[in-house]
Amino acid sequence: MNQLGVSRATLREALKTLEESRLIEGRPNVGWFVHAIDESNVAKARELARQDGSPAERSAANEPPTGPLRIPVAPEKPLHIPNLHTDRLGTFEFISWWEREKVQNAHVLVVGAGALGNDVIKNLALMGVGYIYIVDFDTIEAANLSRSVLFRESDNSRSKAEVAAARARALNPQVHVQYLNGDVMTQLGLGVIRRMDVVIGCLDNREARLAINRFCYWMNKPWVDGAIQELLGLVRVFVPGQGACYECTLTEAAIRDLSLRYSCPLLARQNILLGKVPTTPTIASIIGGIQSQEALKLINGMPVEPGKVIHYNGMVNEMHTTAYVPRADCESHWTYGVITEIPARAEHTTLEDLLRIARADLGAEAVIELDQELITSLFCPVCQTLEQVIKPLNTVSFEAGHCPTCGTLRETKLTHLITGEENFLHRTLANVGVPSLHILRAHNGQEYRFYELTGDLAEALHFHDFQPTEQPKPARGRIHLKDDPHANSAGTGPVSGRIKLHE
Ligand SMILES: [Zn+2]
Ligand SMILES: [Zn+2]
Repeated sequence: MNQLGVSRATLREALKTLEESRLIEGRPNVGWFVHAIDESNVAKARELARQDGSPAERSAANEPPTGPLRIPVAPEKPLHIPNLHTDRLGTFEFISWWEREKVQNAHVLVVGAGALGNDVIKNLALMGVGYIYIVDFDTIEAANLSRSVLFRESDNSRSKAEVAAARARALNPQVHVQYLNGDVMTQLGLGVIRRMDVVIGCLDNREARLAINRFCYWMNKPWVDGAIQELLGLVRVFVPGQGACYECTLTEAAIRDLSLRYSCPLLARQNILLGKVPTTPTIASIIGGIQSQEALKLINGMPVEPGKVIHYNGMVNEMHTTAYVPRADCESHWTYGVITEIPARAEHTTLEDLLRIARADLGAEAVIELDQELITSLFCPVCQTLEQVIKPLNTVSFEAGHCPTCGTLRETKLTHLITGEENFLHRTLANVGVPSLHILRAHNGQEYRFYELTGDLAEALHFHDFQPTEQPKPARGRIHLKDDPHANSAGTGPVSGRIKLHE
């Protein structure tokens, strides 16, 4: 360790990687033993050797160098002298590659409005990114105030997504915002991601990252992941079809750990909701800053390095980039084909309706694959009692999973396949946990079809939260000058009580 100047943890990681690649073998309390290189591990050895080494070796292996690359100048950018007195984005005009139209029309989804999310949202608003959609299920508490530039003491117990959206618009009234106070894994329709240019993950757990990764691959969208802990942080850009994805970066052990947790799905959900990571506002600014910058590059069509990780260590101020190896058998690597837009809505369309549509296209064999598991029954092994329920997994709490008689955690029976045999086909899609503007999958064993609930579009994706409403309709010509009671409560009304009257 002294010779190489590495920490115990780094060494342990390296040994683990070598062991997973069957290059060495660890025997507890004895030591490490090197395997001979043979057919079974030579490919892996080469792959690992390529990941490191001197710059000369790297370029020999046809890897682009990781140093600064020359930034291509957009040749079509017209010469424009901005008015710095009236144009808040004026100085950006002087940046050779910055394109106003692209930035002002950009749609960016920010998942998570915690420490990282606050910094990212602040940056996006300042940079004039036109359309910002914010998702978070959490509420603000005092401990968030030390790391969240958009929150105030008076915001205690309000929705993080809502407050962040309101403050983004206050920072820059030229941007359009929308928020969802909910869980990105189960409550955001894929049609929202389909209409985004970039997704930025400001998350603190693997489960949500894995979900975002799959959604972005399905919709063929780039996403920027960020992670922080104490003074360490990392940023990664993932672009479908270009290098490794998030799931490729997970070790066998991590994937095993995820599936272990899923063997008790109710407990898994509970743990995700409790996740807390110690962070500082400084590391959040650094990592959130890089994330926003990578998003801006993607928006402007600048080169990024997908499938690589930027590590930052604030303890020793070191920054380095490493490439991940894409896994050929990775579960995340597939994208939806042609998406059929149907004028249906999650609230009004039943499973039967959707099955009928799918069977018209795919024949009588067609089945629907739901993205979220449905609990069909809860069984108590002690009392031998079976309770029949039809509920999306996310609506059943860990507590409710316990037997009301003896308190034992009951076994859950789950399904996500709708075959037409079910006795609950009359239920609406919303009722079985399908979010509005979602895109559903159906197949007949040979072919997939994808159906978007486009009837939800106007309500599910509008980007006018906290925007002054059009024209208030004055009743009987007299206006009572009193605060609107709804003005401060939720996202539907205007946030500032003052509305300019035009009559
Ligand atoms: Zn992958
Ligand atoms: Zn019981």
